Amino acid sequence: MNAQADFRSDTVTKPSAGMRRAMAAAEVGDAVYDDDPTTNRLESMTAEILGKEAGLFFPSATQANLGGLMAHCGRGDEFIVGQKAHAYRDEGGGAAVLGSIQPQPLPNEPDGIIDLDAITAAVKPDDFHNPVTRLLALENTFSGHPLPEDYLRDATELARGHGLATHLDGARLMNAAVATGTSPAAIAEHFDSVSLCLSKGLGAPVGALLLGPKQLIDRAKRIRKTLGGGMRQTGVIAAAGISALEHNVTRLGEDHDRASRLAEVFRGFPELGAGEAHTNMVFMSPREVDMDAFTAFLADRGIIVGGGYGTLRWVTHLDIDDEAIERVGEACREYFTRA
Ligand SMILES: *Cc1c(COP(=O)(O)O)cnc(C)c1O
Repeated sequence: MNAQADFRSDTVTKPSAGMRRAMAAAEVGDAVYDDDPTTNRLESMTAEILGKEAGLFFPSATQANLGGLMAHCGRGDEFIVGQKAHAYRDEGGGAAVLGSIQPQPLPNEPDGIIDLDAITAAVKPDDFHNPVTRLLALENTFSGHPLPEDYLRDATELARGHGLATHLDGARLMNAAVATGTSPAAIAEHFDSVSLCLSKGLGAPVGALLLGPKQLIDRAKRIRKTLGGGMRQTGVIAAAGISALEHNVTRLGEDHDRASRLAEVFRGFPELGAGEAHTNMVFMSPREVDMDAFTAFLADRGIIVGGGYGTLRWVTHLDIDDEAIERVGEACREYFTRA
């Protein structure tokens, strides 16, 4: 039994003993000189998995997204992005702040979809009054939702029809692939560039990649240097990424199963206002429940849950086992019989 069942995020996972051994044994060199064999291997291996020409290792998916956006868009260009997308709302406004790229946010449906007509309407005409609309950025999974494959195809075809490039924030792309039974490359295929986070459900302590055509990745490499992301003996952390890709992809299905069981537990307590599980996430908007009292009660039982924007978010991951799910069920039963 873990001391704590931490459901805040799949970022809280700690590297396993096997992953730490791989890190300790990693062959390293100066990655800024392209001399780090382990990093080179991670980049080519990930490019192959995602069916892209080249890959580039970044310290975080935030920086991988920013590197991608800046490689596609110049100063004064614009990118179309979901109003609730991570790259718009949760990355410190980096595209605008550091890239001089104007975001054109559009509403996301609860499942992450951006209406195709809204995308068309947002593409600016070629007129000197307007910024140049350069890129469409989507996110998959979005709040746990895998985007439907036909939507990925339709939206990116539409974008290309308007001369736009396409980028996928695929921080949790592997969750989408496992949940839909699609190959990661089939998801990435629709996009010019894709980011992938290694330190979410894949369980590495740090790191992300940007994948795409070699020319774009070469541009992103210069930008990464500007952003301070040129790192040296990165083999130590790239080895964790290789271990994550080798061992922790198919097992994401276990996280999805546990999230489903969690949602089933919550269905027994309608007051919690919990929704369905989507991949490894369950959201709840408790209505007649004092959220602070409830989360404090859970914390006393070693259950930590995340929240924001009036909802609680439960995320399953490598360090959440069956016992943790049972513990949540017991805590809910205790809370609601006592109240
Ligand atoms: C976590 C996350 C990121 C950023 O990842 P970091 O590695 O924490 O910078 C980007 N996009 C999405 C959808 C994410 O969930």
